[in-house]
Amino acid sequence: MNKSIGIILGLIPYSESSQILKVFNAEKAQISVIAKGWRKKQEPLLRFGEYEFNLFEPKEEGLYILKEAGLLQDFSQYPSTSTWAAAEAGAELLSKILISASEAGEYYALLHNYLSYLQKLENNAILIFWRLFLRVFKLMGINPELNKCSICGSDDGPAAFSGASETICKSCFSQVINRDYYVALSLEERNILSLLPEIGKHLDSIIPDAEAVNKLNAFFLAYYSAQQKQTLKLKSLSVLSQFYH
Ligand SMILES: [Zn+2]
Repeated sequence: MNKSIGIILGLIPYSESSQILKVFNAEKAQISVIAKGWRKKQEPLLRFGEYEFNLFEPKEEGLYILKEAGLLQDFSQYPSTSTWAAAEAGAELLSKILISASEAGEYYALLHNYLSYLQKLENNAILIFWRLFLRVFKLMGINPELNKCSICGSDDGPAAFSGASETICKSCFSQVINRDYYVALSLEERNILSLLPEIGKHLDSIIPDAEAVNKLNAFFLAYYSAQQKQTLKLKSLSVLSQFYH
């Protein structure tokens, strides 16, 4: 038997009385757990609940078996629907990344901080979602040098980006021949990208509109996909984006 801490990111009914839990575990990263008979208990397991679990190891590559679960922190409630949607998007992002057991603790802390932060935030949670994305890149060792131009190397800030994870400066963008290859960023969008590492200080002054949301989402997804050579799609991100007009 094995005691460990984890956050339930998904709950799937399995039979009349059982459910499968998709858990982000602080020691093992993403695991699947079968909770036999738990659907009939008085205290249902919470999606986005942080628990101390008592688990039986799976026999082979299968499911862990839940023995006991004690709620430590409830991350299932948020001040607004848009913030809740940001929690969903962050959870989906973390569930899509291949994380080894040795890295699990760092990613777990990231997820825990993210959900704690969102519980105090009513508006503009997408900014914190992008910050999470940036922090994930850092942990993955693919931190983008957002201010550095991929063509001339100047640190003028990104004026445009490409699907091949290049960010380029204003002067280079004005000279490129194949402009369709790049997505131009407005001053406000550049500003968001530059301030992202410390965006927590600017949550009241920056209100991204629908265009900024679409472009910056596209930037993060394209950067991930180009670096990992694997397409990343997040269904919950389109839900989150609908809150920005
Ligand atoms: Zn340049």
